[in-house]
Amino acid sequence: MKLELNHISKAYGKTKALTDFNAVLEPGIYALLGPNGSGKSTLMNIITDNLKADKGEIIFNGEKAKNMGVRFREKIGFMPQYPGVYPSFTVEDYLWYMAKLKGLSNQKARQEIPNVLEAVELTESLKTKVGALSGGMKQRLCLACAVLGDPDILILDEPTAGLDPKQRIAVRNYISRIAFNKIVIIATHVVSDIEYIAGNIIILKKGCIYRSASPSSLISEIEGKVWLAETEEKDVENLQKTTKVTNISKEAECVRVRILSDTKPHPLAQNTPPTLEDYYLYVFGEEYEKEKM
Ligand code: ADP
Ligand code: MG
Repeated sequence: MKLELNHISKAYGKTKALTDFNAVLEPGIYALLGPNGSGKSTLMNIITDNLKADKGEIIFNGEKAKNMGVRFREKIGFMPQYPGVYPSFTVEDYLWYMAKLKGLSNQKARQEIPNVLEAVELTESLKTKVGALSGGMKQRLCLACAVLGDPDILILDEPTAGLDPKQRIAVRNYISRIAFNKIVIIATHVVSDIEYIAGNIIILKKGCIYRSASPSSLISEIEGKVWLAETEEKDVENLQKTTKVTNISKEAECVRVRILSDTKPHPLAQNTPPTLEDYYLYVFGEEYEKEKM
């Protein structure tokens, strides 16, 4: 199975949301990583045919998606970033409705619905009205809908938004479990969501691919640039002014500061192994600061 995304571009007026996006995807988990506004949703909406690209084409197994029409859309399970749900349906009715829209037989739906519900921990909410679900529960219901029908291509736009840490881990593990033999694309700006499950990371910066590589090769790019310094509280402010401080932890005897810097930032600083989070901060330092606010 092969999904080719060729020269995809999209602008909204003067805003270039996506510029010449190219990728060849085979079964595996791909993370689309970038801060808000970097074009992740735009790309996902184009792949799923919810938005028309200005330029470019999508090829699935050698055939143009445009010519395949429904045959292509049937292969896709999509969880949009802001899914619309029908508040008056019960969870069960909603899943049956989605199963019918996807063309599943009654037998298949009867088989699959309990499984997906259990996977997203909503079995007990079977008879609850969708409108009465919490944000995190709605989010998990939408993941269940995307997965229904066992699609070859799974496209998840910020699937863990609004989930608590335990649910995030559960959703992450679930995605990685069902990803076998599928092309899975996960958009997120949360590194920990994809750090251990994505084999490939496509970093989007202002609508352009900044890097596309495995997590380990991205991390190796900043080898030797992450430092830990044990210092005194009075030095921290100065370090923050002159370097990129990514973490400050107070210990009994000192303050431990994590720093991103091309050169040794402090006489007592020692190199420490980089993480993907460090890489993200290295690339998106300023944008990340804004996002936190
Ligand atoms: P992300 O999903 O990474 O947060 P988006 O794809 O939503 O990014 O947005 C990319 C850029 O396109 C942003 O600058 C955003 O403001 C702009 N944009 C997205 N949708 C629209 C729209 N419907 N009209 C105008 N601008 C849009
Ligand atoms: Mg988005």
